[in-house]
Amino acid sequence: MKFHEEFSNLGSIRVYCRVRPFLSGQSNHLSTVENIEDGVITINVPSKNGKGRKSFNFNKVFGPSAAQGEVFADMQPLVRSVLDGFNVCIFAYGQTGSGKTFTMTGIKKNHEIRSNSQRGLSVPDASLVQVSSTNDVIELMNLGHKNRAVGATALNDRSSRSHSCLTVHVQGRDLTSGAVLRGCMHLVDLAGSERVDKSEATGDRLKEAQHINKSLSALGDVIASLAQKNQHVPYRNSKLTQLLQDSLGGQAKTLMFVHISPETNAIGETISTLKFAERVA
Ligand code: ADP
Ligand code: MG
Repeated sequence: MKFHEEFSNLGSIRVYCRVRPFLSGQSNHLSTVENIEDGVITINVPSKNGKGRKSFNFNKVFGPSAAQGEVFADMQPLVRSVLDGFNVCIFAYGQTGSGKTFTMTGIKKNHEIRSNSQRGLSVPDASLVQVSSTNDVIELMNLGHKNRAVGATALNDRSSRSHSCLTVHVQGRDLTSGAVLRGCMHLVDLAGSERVDKSEATGDRLKEAQHINKSLSALGDVIASLAQKNQHVPYRNSKLTQLLQDSLGGQAKTLMFVHISPETNAIGETISTLKFAERVA
């Protein structure tokens, strides 16, 4: 069996959902998720009479206890289909903090700090480098500065205000026919989907937020019209969809992986994420 067959049997657009676990140190463990079963997730939603429930269907739902290995194993046939010459797009969608980057990279790594009575505080991941000149020190400082610039990006959350797209091009040869096969895979960690409160955001920040929401809804429009097999697909409404046009639709395979946070105070964003997913399924 070729790697892509399993996925192609299921159609070219799939929608997955993953629920982030509560993070260590969080005290309130009341989750909005009532139940997960066979690709159906049921959410507790506040309603006029106090409490209501709403269910959403997906090709697959990963609960908070799903291990990264389980998620990656499920995506393996899709990723491998790139070797058969298919174009693949995997999108991670959801509000900031819902676990998009975690799913896409498998890490988020905090540097551990250890305390030792003799040597004081130490960071086991940091390296100790021997120097013999002022220049060595300056070089190391420059290296640290570069690393810090990346760290700061994550800290002040610039990363959640932009889309990140990693594209891998693969070229191979079919050993039987000799045909050259070209495939590519786009891993797209989308900007946080949260609505920005207009009373809080002003000026450039508001413009930026509106731009993000516009490009996310343009992406939703494209995937929804592909899912409905519409004649006209509005690729040209955003730079992101223009850029990915060759890998969305046609023979390409798309996975929209939506992420939700379990906290009750995230219910508004959770519902809007699930509604976005419902539209593109
Ligand atoms: P996003 O990219 O959507 O803003 P992150 O991927 O940065 O969110 O996740 C937010 C925090 O939650 C990080 O500390 C991350 O390590 C943690 N996290 C997210 N998903 C999981 C998971 N499935 N299991 C354990 N920790 C997770
Ligand atoms: Mg992220």
